[in-house]
Amino acid sequence: MLVRNVKDVPKIAVKEFRVGDRVLPVSGTSVRWMVHNGYGGPEYKHGFALRHFTMEPGGKIPFHAHEYVEAIFVLEGELIFKSERETVKVGSGDVVYTYAQEGHSLENPSDTQTVTFTCTIDCPGDGSNCLEPRGS
Ligand SMILES: [Zn+2]
Repeated sequence: MLVRNVKDVPKIAVKEFRVGDRVLPVSGTSVRWMVHNGYGGPEYKHGFALRHFTMEPGGKIPFHAHEYVEAIFVLEGELIFKSERETVKVGSGDVVYTYAQEGHSLENPSDTQTVTFTCTIDCPGDGSNCLEPRGS
């Protein structure tokens, strides 16, 4: 068993999101990789990563898609979450679950409130998307 606190995990500024050759700018966002493929030994199997995000007022992650699925669990504040089909406002206690290659974007619409959320992802293929540290 491993135990760590969010305050003890390095906070990494997210400046961009890479999709193939495209580089999309990200603003007001940082991430802490709470659980990833380099944390713990092989007995942990490393089938997922758990990340803790902080998004400042006005922060944005632009529309993107990826092979891994993700479950975003909002801890505090509100997010505008857009997918290919709909736009929703989600808040504390809500979970948004996206499927592989489902396009989506996230935005903190507040002028004052920071949003915190966790994002749990699976590690398809070689699992390289679950290696810390990454800014996306
Ligand atoms: Zn995503």
